[in-house]
Amino acid sequence: MPLRMRTLLLTLVAISLRAAAEDSVSAVRHEADSWRAEHRIIDLHQHIDCSTQHLARAIKIMDAAGIGLAVNLSGGYVTHKDGEVSEFERNKTLADQLFPGRFVHYMNLDYSRWNEPDFAKTAAKQVEEGHRLGAAGFKEFKRLGLYLRDGNHQLIKIDDPKLDLVWERCGELNMPVSIHVADPAAFWLPYDDKNERWAELRDHRSWWFGDTNIYPPRMELLEALNRVITRHPKTTFVAVHFANNAEDLDWVESALDRYPNMYADLAARIPEIGRHDPEKVRRLFLKHQDRILFATDFQVYDRLILGSSGNEPPPTDADAQVFFEKEWRWLETNDRNWAHMTPIQGNWTISSIGLPVSALRKIYFDNARRLLARSLPAPVVKAAHIEKDFEPDGGAAKDVWQKAMPARLECETRDFAARPEISTAVRVLWSDHYLYLLYECPFTTLTTFDPPQFDKERIGLWDRDVVEAFIGTDLEHPRQYMEFEVAPTNEKLDLTLNQGGDGFSWDSHFQSAVKIDRERKVWNCEWRIPLSSLAQSKPKPGDRWRINFYRCDRANHAFLAWNPTLSGTFHVPDRFGAVEFGSEEK
Ligand SMILES: [Zn+2]
Repeated sequence: MPLRMRTLLLTLVAISLRAAAEDSVSAVRHEADSWRAEHRIIDLHQHIDCSTQHLARAIKIMDAAGIGLAVNLSGGYVTHKDGEVSEFERNKTLADQLFPGRFVHYMNLDYSRWNEPDFAKTAAKQVEEGHRLGAAGFKEFKRLGLYLRDGNHQLIKIDDPKLDLVWERCGELNMPVSIHVADPAAFWLPYDDKNERWAELRDHRSWWFGDTNIYPPRMELLEALNRVITRHPKTTFVAVHFANNAEDLDWVESALDRYPNMYADLAARIPEIGRHDPEKVRRLFLKHQDRILFATDFQVYDRLILGSSGNEPPPTDADAQVFFEKEWRWLETNDRNWAHMTPIQGNWTISSIGLPVSALRKIYFDNARRLLARSLPAPVVKAAHIEKDFEPDGGAAKDVWQKAMPARLECETRDFAARPEISTAVRVLWSDHYLYLLYECPFTTLTTFDPPQFDKERIGLWDRDVVEAFIGTDLEHPRQYMEFEVAPTNEKLDLTLNQGGDGFSWDSHFQSAVKIDRERKVWNCEWRIPLSSLAQSKPKPGDRWRINFYRCDRANHAFLAWNPTLSGTFHVPDRFGAVEFGSEEK
């Protein structure tokens, strides 16, 4: 065969292998739409003014876009005058009260005592106070290195040793640091209408850093941050705006290569990243898919800001939807040369990078979950109400289950590490008599006790494959709960915890059925538990019980939890989520 022909054939084989191994755009979009429908997407970079009206506007837009959780980087200071609550505490309290589970907040550092000799110590105390108040992380703005000045009018340096204790404490307390240093390269170029960022600079004179008498060179700022990241290997640094250097992919790649404690968020930089060769961007995203985070710089104040803004008429809620649509389009399709999502950033087009599902879910939520593990809000699953009772038969095909939005069991209980290959859907229904559960469990090999033991309960059933639910119905006594387990053999176990006596002798009379589909490699487990065995009185629509779901899959060394316990045991009632009883839909 002529060499050219062979090369052509090999290329064709390579292309078809790649196509087979990767997901089609329509499959990717379908999967991502389901994540949005279930509100699984986390936006790691928003700024929301915590007033009732602005929070409500943010939620309305997030609901329509399919964002479940937003990280508000502008949580505020934890310092306060005597007798007053801090800005941070006020903001967090209001957001949690109005929209529980939808926002987490990062704290900001109050530099007002910078010139006092004990600043390093009191600043570390601010971090401790933020941690105590529930700050999910720590945010520093570009003010450091560019605007903040000491008593002698000198710029405070990003790597000033007086801040070392702050970075150190953030690491010890498991608070990730999101840090913005420098700005787009064009902000250091001449201030005139030839500047490619002129539209932005014209409306924000203070964003121009080209005066060398006032401002340090851009790369000096980036290098100072790298020194901080090197000095604090146990602290996680999310370098925002694509590592603050979206113009230079090689630089970002080598920084991510060098610093395992460095992450990059995408906030407001898709217009810049999207100008590069999409194949090159894609390679970088695949290489560092574990440390790139979905983030937008969506902001709600009196005006909306969609990545950036100037003096143009304010965007509407509908514009915000277009903005988020374009975020998805860039990550999920292979579209070329289209108008980006933040026109004020520059008059050019971008090209999409068509990521596969496996990388996309890391960027949309798996990476953020690991980062925020300590402070992710406890999840809530809705139990849909049904009128007609049915006997469990293990079948997922029953239409009635489609009424229930699934909860996902797909993280290791110890640390939120994602296990998408065995992501297990759990659905919940209730009638006037029973609580129904359906688990759909992808598997590779089943590990069970053989033969199963049906005449009496086997203590230690959990040493093989099982699905489990822990349910607490006495809200006054959160340490008291009931445990249910079913194995793929339909061998089962129920017991009470911390309620005195021998918990194993308790019998709820729950019924279960298992169906194993060996071709599709999925086992289903369907149960119903009499409500009368769970609580003195039946739940009413709107009531909540405490619940957590688990799965042990020995072949995959997996101990999955719906809300991970962040420890080696499932028995952490503080980490239970909730089941909310829905009313009959007419
Ligand atoms: Zn921002």
